[in-house]
Amino acid sequence: MGTLFFVGVLIAGLVVGSKWLRKKEQMAFLDSDVDDGVLLEKYKVSVGIETVVPQATAISRALPSETPFRLKEIVLSEGHRNLLQTIEDVLEGRFRVFVHLPLKDFVDGGSVLEGKEVSYLVCDPHYFNVLAGIDILNKDATETHFLRELFSEINKPLVLFPKKQIYTDEEVRAKLQFFAGAEQKCPNCTSSMEKRKLNSAAEQWVWVCDNYPRCKGHLKIT
Ligand SMILES: [Zn+2]
Repeated sequence: MGTLFFVGVLIAGLVVGSKWLRKKEQMAFLDSDVDDGVLLEKYKVSVGIETVVPQATAISRALPSETPFRLKEIVLSEGHRNLLQTIEDVLEGRFRVFVHLPLKDFVDGGSVLEGKEVSYLVCDPHYFNVLAGIDILNKDATETHFLRELFSEINKPLVLFPKKQIYTDEEVRAKLQFFAGAEQKCPNCTSSMEKRKLNSAAEQWVWVCDNYPRCKGHLKIT
């Protein structure tokens, strides 16, 4: 009975003690907050509000954020944005253009593809079949070489543009001639067709039915 009483007192003591500690902690926190407020007020008066706000913004940016996610101020560089708009104007909505697409999203090829991407990937708007890659020539020639090899291997064209800020409709249209008349219909089943390069040494392109291999419809491009 004596032990039970002792345990009871101990528990009650702990509860009261922890509540007191918590209260003390809260008060200390509030006091520090008030101090900061007072300091800030004094600071504002001494340097002027127009100095305080930019400084506070700079400090909040420098502080580690609660989550690691922050919206980027610029999603696409000016040149990339301009080229995308020009491509979309030229393609007139007949194709879907994906931007900065990781290569591993549309090519099987293991870890060598890790971290690599193509600036734009043109796909047909219904089945999202890959039609062509578009990229900007950058200083790193090995990256461009890798893309060239990859697109040659997957048998899809890769269109390359020089790196700059402004692209005209004319130059983009000239390089995307490839897509002109891409509304070709299969002579067998009337579904749409896709241009493909034959595996011969000579650059021979043919229209191949989208239903290949179920449908063997094809047309030579002369
Ligand atoms: Zn067909």
